[in-house]
Amino acid sequence: MIAGMHTKSPGEAAVLLLVGGGHAHVSLLADWIRHGAPSGVRAVLLTPDRHLRYSGMVPGWLAGQHHADDGLVDLAALAQRAGVDLILDRCTGLDPDARRVRTAGGGTIRFDIASFDTGGEGRAAALLGDDPRLIDVRPIGAFVERIAALPAPARVVVAGGGAGGVELSFGMRNLTSINPPPQVTLAAGSSGILPGFAPAVRRRVSKALARQGISVVEADAHFAGGTIMAGGQSLDPADVVIAATGSAAPPWVRASGLATDAPGFLAVNAHHQSTSHSHIFAAGDVAARIDRPLAHSGVHAVFAGPVLAANLRAVLAGKPPTRTYRPRWNNLYLMNTGDGSAIASYGPLAAEGRWVLALKHWIDKRWIAQYAALADGA
Ligand SMILES: Cc1cc2nc3c(=O)[nH]c(=O)nc-3n(C[C@H](O)[C@H](O)[C@H](O)COP(=O)(O)OP(=O)(O)OC[C@H]3O[C@@H](n4cnc5c(N)ncnc54)[C@H](O)[C@@H]3O)c2cc1C
Repeated sequence: MIAGMHTKSPGEAAVLLLVGGGHAHVSLLADWIRHGAPSGVRAVLLTPDRHLRYSGMVPGWLAGQHHADDGLVDLAALAQRAGVDLILDRCTGLDPDARRVRTAGGGTIRFDIASFDTGGEGRAAALLGDDPRLIDVRPIGAFVERIAALPAPARVVVAGGGAGGVELSFGMRNLTSINPPPQVTLAAGSSGILPGFAPAVRRRVSKALARQGISVVEADAHFAGGTIMAGGQSLDPADVVIAATGSAAPPWVRASGLATDAPGFLAVNAHHQSTSHSHIFAAGDVAARIDRPLAHSGVHAVFAGPVLAANLRAVLAGKPPTRTYRPRWNNLYLMNTGDGSAIASYGPLAAEGRWVLALKHWIDKRWIAQYAALADGA
């Protein structure tokens, strides 16, 4: 149990609670390692696993381009070097007025200022219906463990036509552990593949899917009487159904009474500060920017990290938050096609080739390596 500022005696350290070891919070840990922790602050990281798995490298792991451990960030080592206490548990409830968080292990953690970067929760069973063959891509760590333990699947259905579903279709089609590789059907949803991406990108991806023999069905997948369906069509027989259908807001966010957007994500302003409680901050998929639309994507969690770190540093020093996360007009998305190539999307532009995959590997490995070096004390 940790004492909070509102009950602390004079001179006692303020408590900053970091909930979730996500992409934005690792940036804060890096900032504290590089520039020192704010003085007079006790910080605690509450997160269920000692590692953060970098989802961008999972399709490459399926295709045998990375080892399973290549995409891990060591949260425990970073927290230790940053002078942050680590509690391996999960937030299950929050009282922002009493400044308390409840954990799955039955604990209560008090805080003065809290920051949330827990990502969203899987919603595959809610959208598709439950079935023993269903594997939700979230949480990504559990997904990797289930895929690694699978007996060789001959036929795979992937549900979800966004970048995650597309890359996982390519990854499953190029599973190196299985010969011959599985047949893959992508149930892309009624909007087709990559809604929101430029026509040039969608064309290239469609061609690559066809070239690799991945069938695309433009309808939403769901289970009906034990059969996996898309529209009115059965996609069975399928050994496994992978759902990359986006994430839902954790239920404890809305239940806390914090301001949320309509689906229940934690509403924040441009400083990533709660619009209802000024001592609460959030970034990444758990947050919803109210001043502007912002897609739930790792890119934004990563780029919002330094802004969040600077604003928390200011608030802990008794100053108002001043930094604003302004997303770039266009972001670079690099989709691994699993066959030694990748497709790049940048606004209206598309490009494809082995050099795109080399660029993706360079960016991904550089991101991981910076945290490995900090964790090692380099
Ligand atoms: C296959 C796949 C590929 C993707 N590729 C890309 C890509 O190339 N580029 C891109 O921009 N996006 C990509 N995404 C999306 C990206 O994974 C997410 O947008 C990103 O992970 C969100 O980061 P985050 O920091 O919000 O949360 P996460 O990365 O999900 O981290 C959340 C952290 O909080 C912890 N946590 C969870 N619940 C709790 C709780 N209740 N209490 C405490 N801690 C908790 C978790 O263990 C984890 O450490 C991909 C997604 C998938 C599925």
